[in-house]
Amino acid sequence: MNLKLNSSTDHIKGVGEKYSRALKKHNILTVFDLLLNFPAFYIDFNNIDNNIEISKKKVYKTEIKKVKLTRNFKKRLSTLRVHANIYEKNKLNSNSKPKCYDIQILIFNKPYLFDLLKKNGNVYFFGNIENSNGYLQVNNPMIFNTIENGNVMPVYTKISTIKSGFLRKIFKNIFGSLDDNFENLPEQIVNKYSFRNIVETLKNIHFPEIYNENTFYNNKKRFIYEEFLFFQIELQFVRRYFKKNIRINNYTINNKLRESIKQSLRFDLTSDQINVYEEVVNDLKSTQTMQRLLQGDVGSGKTVVSFLTLLIAKINGFQGAFLVPTEILANQHFLNAKAFFKNIEIEIITGSTPNNKKREIKERLKKGEIDIIFGTHSILNENIEFKNLSMIIIDEQQRFGVSQRAALFYKGKSVDLLVTTATPIPRTMLLTLYNDLKVSKIINKPKGRKSIITKIVDTGKRDSFYKWLKTKIEKGEKTYIVLPLIEKSDFFSQLHSIEEDSEYFKEIFKPSQIGIISGKTPNIEKARILNKFINGDIKVLLSTTVIEVGIDVKDAIMIVIENADRYGLSQLHQLRGRVGRSSFQSYCYIIPSQQVTENGKKRLKIISSTNDGFKIAEMDLRIRGGGMISGFEQSGYLDFKIADTKRDYEIFKLAKIDAEQILKNPSLQNNYITNNISLLKEKIKKINFS
Ligand code: ADP
Ligand code: MG
Repeated sequence: MNLKLNSSTDHIKGVGEKYSRALKKHNILTVFDLLLNFPAFYIDFNNIDNNIEISKKKVYKTEIKKVKLTRNFKKRLSTLRVHANIYEKNKLNSNSKPKCYDIQILIFNKPYLFDLLKKNGNVYFFGNIENSNGYLQVNNPMIFNTIENGNVMPVYTKISTIKSGFLRKIFKNIFGSLDDNFENLPEQIVNKYSFRNIVETLKNIHFPEIYNENTFYNNKKRFIYEEFLFFQIELQFVRRYFKKNIRINNYTINNKLRESIKQSLRFDLTSDQINVYEEVVNDLKSTQTMQRLLQGDVGSGKTVVSFLTLLIAKINGFQGAFLVPTEILANQHFLNAKAFFKNIEIEIITGSTPNNKKREIKERLKKGEIDIIFGTHSILNENIEFKNLSMIIIDEQQRFGVSQRAALFYKGKSVDLLVTTATPIPRTMLLTLYNDLKVSKIINKPKGRKSIITKIVDTGKRDSFYKWLKTKIEKGEKTYIVLPLIEKSDFFSQLHSIEEDSEYFKEIFKPSQIGIISGKTPNIEKARILNKFINGDIKVLLSTTVIEVGIDVKDAIMIVIENADRYGLSQLHQLRGRVGRSSFQSYCYIIPSQQVTENGKKRLKIISSTNDGFKIAEMDLRIRGGGMISGFEQSGYLDFKIADTKRDYEIFKLAKIDAEQILKNPSLQNNYITNNISLLKEKIKKINFS
């Protein structure tokens, strides 16, 4: 009985040095951190009714009749073929004889289950029964011979190489020796919401006696609230601190500047671009530093506004930095910049800049010999000294938190900042999270672009759709096909995966070759395939959602999105944004899953009726969660571990108000909060940019 919530994970029985290190990589340092990894779902052994429900994951009790193991050593494949009976309880009359069903269970590559299955008359399995040519069949279910973990069994997502079963053991061990009354929330808060003790609540989450979705959520609420509250305290504290950020660098801005760049551009600025420029100019004349967010869809023309802003700094004798998320983008912008900035010293630093070159650039930045530096966001982590940095552009960064902005304060004295993003942030979110940022928008794209036509394909006509698509490919057109998963998932059997479907697509498009890219494809290979797609050797690119937003293949005019109903609206919009990058008419084909939830239907309707990213983002917030897969739904606006800004928006609002009170009135703070606030300043100085 000596484990505490803040004990390091290597104090837990069963967690050796190796696992402790693996956990550390996932930012799990303490027992508390680990316990905050809640079960992905529960298997409920209470009330097993054995009613056969096709395609639904549930627990069945079976009676084994026959087991056969076949092995193919060459292919390293083993199959356990199990014949079993399932006795279905009669729903209407429990006294009548149960109905018996014959069922085939197939288990791949788990030969060690053979003994267990043979010896035991009865086993439980968790899986979905499918109707396969008139036979009832289950593929690769989870098998249990006894109900050894209580009547409700938590199932966890793997952490590093630590699998669910082992995690369950570890959690058991934790609760065997955990004794801690630690409380991180102030007493008033605990009372106000009637939160229960932390350890007790966690125990109920990991090992509930009975499972009930509402109870689970109620237990979780405490931790959702906590996450929001601490986030809000930090946010609001930093924001107050920021208010002192008074302008030091003054600019004289010539009214003709905008005109003077005309010969560097092949086009006239759109009226939206001009408006944003004027807004920037006003900021730069104000007594406070600029803190502006520029929103505009991909391809709407944000870069030229950023360049103009940097030009103002340079003309006034200051230095500027243009920072982007990836090296590819940094290089792309640097090339454009060379054409734009005449007689101005510009340089680029990325991960591949050789050390001696890096050293030289740093030297010159310090001396003020370089006017504008291009690079990835991470160069902010390096010890770069500037002579007189006054302007920073952070390109394509939506998650640029308030702490990171505060940290910039230490990089240059009261710098002006323009953050750009292609992912529109809904107005409600802006008000709550970013209300100290001013917002500019580029709504209308440059002339000559056609809006993308989005069509929903009937799921039942998938094959004939692809046959039709093949005729398009044969005429020389290019298409993306996006699947949600790399590997087939037992949990989400309706979702298409590269693993399962690539043969299907190879067959369909024969003799044309297809390119396949996923998060697992090595970078060099990825680049090679992308190049083939760009130059037209490959006309079909099959991928997961990993293909970077930055990828720009102008003549790829079609994109097919499978299981489209399972994505958040914003993500669908981003995916669709991979086409429509030229004056050609582009198309987005959406194929829904076999079963679509009501919210899923709403999302599909919205995405097929508008191309307006701002509208879509608003709707995205309004239609919450339902039917989407977490972790896969990347439309969340901030990365919370347990909380979800959409689902838990009501709690979010409460936490925000409470945080205000707590900051205003120190007597409401407990030690935990007071200490953390005093550490914030140090934390900000060391913040990591990437
Ligand atoms: P994003 O907003 O995604 O950063 P870019 O700034 O890269 O978009 O612009 C996309 C493309 O549009 C570029 O090729 C750019 O040269 C072009 N562009 C930008 N502004 C205009 C304009 N006013 N008229 C015509 N083309 C423009
Ligand atoms: Mg851009």
